[in-house]
Amino acid sequence: MTRIAFIGLGNMGGGMAANQAKAQHQVRAFDLSAAAVERAVAAGCLAAASVAEAVAEAEIVITMLPAGPHVRAVYAEQILPNAPKSALLIDCSTIDVDSARVVARQAAEAGFRFADAPVSGGIMAAEAGTLAFMVGCEASDFAAVEAALAPMSRVTIHAGDHGAGQAAKICNNMLLGVSMLGTCEAFALAEKLGLAADRFFEIASKSSGQCWSITSYCPVPGVGPQTPADRGYEGGFASAMMLKDLKLAQEAAAKAGASTPMGAQAEALYALFDANGFGGKDFSAVIELLRGRVAD
Ligand code: NAD
Repeated sequence: MTRIAFIGLGNMGGGMAANQAKAQHQVRAFDLSAAAVERAVAAGCLAAASVAEAVAEAEIVITMLPAGPHVRAVYAEQILPNAPKSALLIDCSTIDVDSARVVARQAAEAGFRFADAPVSGGIMAAEAGTLAFMVGCEASDFAAVEAALAPMSRVTIHAGDHGAGQAAKICNNMLLGVSMLGTCEAFALAEKLGLAADRFFEIASKSSGQCWSITSYCPVPGVGPQTPADRGYEGGFASAMMLKDLKLAQEAAAKAGASTPMGAQAEALYALFDANGFGGKDFSAVIELLRGRVAD
């Protein structure tokens, strides 16, 4: 049994904390939302009244917070001053690379081991304990990080030093956004050309256009495996979340002087989709924009 502090019990963190409790660890859980803490307690965690109380005796501290400013503030003001120096600190939120590196530096200066470990996989994977983690940390800390994440993970990969986990996450999701838009555009053109969606699915799945967005997450209902398209684009990975990750990628590209014109176009299209009120729909619903069914 390991003493784990879990901070941030939202859509993702709730299921992740529950899996740590299921693995017989003692999980002290905190969230600003009392309802989220209550759900964690029902799943076997212990309620903490503050971040300070949650981390006070922790061997491992895991955060799953919305964005960079939340992570910076919680670490600087609450975790670093209150956790035992021996605690392993792991941030699983998706945040900007700079924030991850700032928090890593502050943690190291205060004498802590720290890892950025964002995840691939949505709410269902968080609940099932089948997330993929991409980790930025000292090579010597990776085995401990991998063991700490095991109850929540299907695979954990060392991406490199601090910030590399976040870099991997935004590069992967930029590619996903671009590939989904390409897939949607191809299906929309196929429809206009009178080509049946199931025929195009079968052919593209076995041809050079094949990609995950076609074979595993097809944006057209009734075609291929079950996807959010088969349930009105509800659930899955929200377009607003994809937009958040595409913005992070563009910010990182601007700072690094990288040319990412496809990523920029993907951000513009998801921003338009979001502005039209579809941010809550699964990101594959963007096919409606490309069919011209959403105002632009
Ligand atoms: P969420 O908004 O459901 O949960 C975030 C939780 O953090 C909320 O419950 C909120 O009350 C809590 N919180 C905010 N500030 C806090 C503070 N100071 N102290 C304690 N708790 C605080 O978000 P989510 O969907 O769980 O996503 C969390 C992170 O995971 C985000 O960075 C997101 O980009 C990333 N992510 C989400 C998904 C997904 O499908 N939802 C997939 C991969 C990665």
